[in-house]
Amino acid sequence: MYIADLNQKPYGHATGKIVCVGRNYAAHAKELNNPVPESPILFIKPGSAAVPMVPAFSIPVDQGEVHHELEIALLIGKRLKHASASEADLSIDGIGLGLDLTLRDVQNELKANGHPWERAKAFDGSCPLSGFVDTRRVPDWRNLTLCLKRNGVMQQQGNTAAMIFNIVGLLVEISRTFTLEPGDIVLTGTPAGVGPLKPGDRLEASLQDWIELETMVMGDNDVGV
Ligand code: ZN
Repeated sequence: MYIADLNQKPYGHATGKIVCVGRNYAAHAKELNNPVPESPILFIKPGSAAVPMVPAFSIPVDQGEVHHELEIALLIGKRLKHASASEADLSIDGIGLGLDLTLRDVQNELKANGHPWERAKAFDGSCPLSGFVDTRRVPDWRNLTLCLKRNGVMQQQGNTAAMIFNIVGLLVEISRTFTLEPGDIVLTGTPAGVGPLKPGDRLEASLQDWIELETMVMGDNDVGV
């Protein structure tokens, strides 16, 4: 089922940059009292933010709330610059799940001061990633369901039909500003239901019936993580 996982360095490429999209589901923008954007809000996590999501990942324990944002992750397989829609469509080699871990208290302070988000969004380990499945099994980018349960309770449930900017359109837009390279990852925004994680939490995440995973949250002072 998996065509790539982080331990195997997909296609021989190290994980490149991770381009992320903010507020791509209207219900999520609303839950954080943010306006719905007119063009995609983009930010980048460095490759050093990527860690395997399974069997466990760690979160900072001394910087306020760490929120889960479950997102569809795209593994880029071809160089994209000023791409057309069909080039963008053909550039996606794998689809998986990513967590855009967010230090929410830190982010709110940065936003209030008009500062960049990186300290809240781009820290080491801020992007746990699942394995990726072959995109040839994706019949329709506009009807994909993702879910996240925390300690057995459904927290996030979304469908790409509710995206403000659809997956192919996002890649076209991103490639106008940032050249995407093989091994880069794109996180496509989170549906509503974000909330805090605590060390010891047990998470279950799914994408269609292609990916169903279980993982544990650990504190970053836990030995061996
Ligand atoms: Zn996000």
